Amino acid sequence: MKLCYFFILNSAIGIEFTNNLYTSENPTEDFQALNIDIEERLEQARLEAERIVALLAADNTYRAGILHQQNIEKTYKTLQKLRFTWSKTGKPFGQCDPNTFTYVIKLHTKEHRNNIFICPILLLQTFSILTQIIIHEAAHLGFEASECQATAFEVLSLHYSSFNEVYKTPYWKRCGTERLNQHFLNRI
Ligand SMILES: [Zn+2]
Repeated sequence: MKLCYFFILNSAIGIEFTNNLYTSENPTEDFQALNIDIEERLEQARLEAERIVALLAADNTYRAGILHQQNIEKTYKTLQKLRFTWSKTGKPFGQCDPNTFTYVIKLHTKEHRNNIFICPILLLQTFSILTQIIIHEAAHLGFEASECQATAFEVLSLHYSSFNEVYKTPYWKRCGTERLNQHFLNRI
């Protein structure tokens, strides 16, 4: 665990927060041109999200507020059971619009429980952004996190990842996430 700790420490310092996103004139066409196994990519991202949240659970020193151990464990369990709904044609569906990556429906029906609706534009983003968004949505599903809580949870979790680029979502400004992020960086 010690070795692992040092690894986390190093990677956390290397994280850069970015506003860069893949944008596209025609996301549906770009999506159709993707030569990747989407199901496999989503599963890899789910596993990566699960790994990151497990590290957070093991090393969590906060144990209060949104990082209450129970919230982390609930999110972890959600990630283990997570399912994805996505458009096989690349056409936006349901509540997807050009600016929407994903959405969840907080109804405790079998159809919606542990399910994330993945909009086509998210599948055009990098693997780290995909994983980041999955953690965010899992927090909504896991402990009914609000937008700001899910954003904080996602950012703090990612400090335990080996990603060196993290997407600064529009929620950062509204939720004052920058300050929280600095606090976290100073503390480790
Ligand atoms: Zn959200």
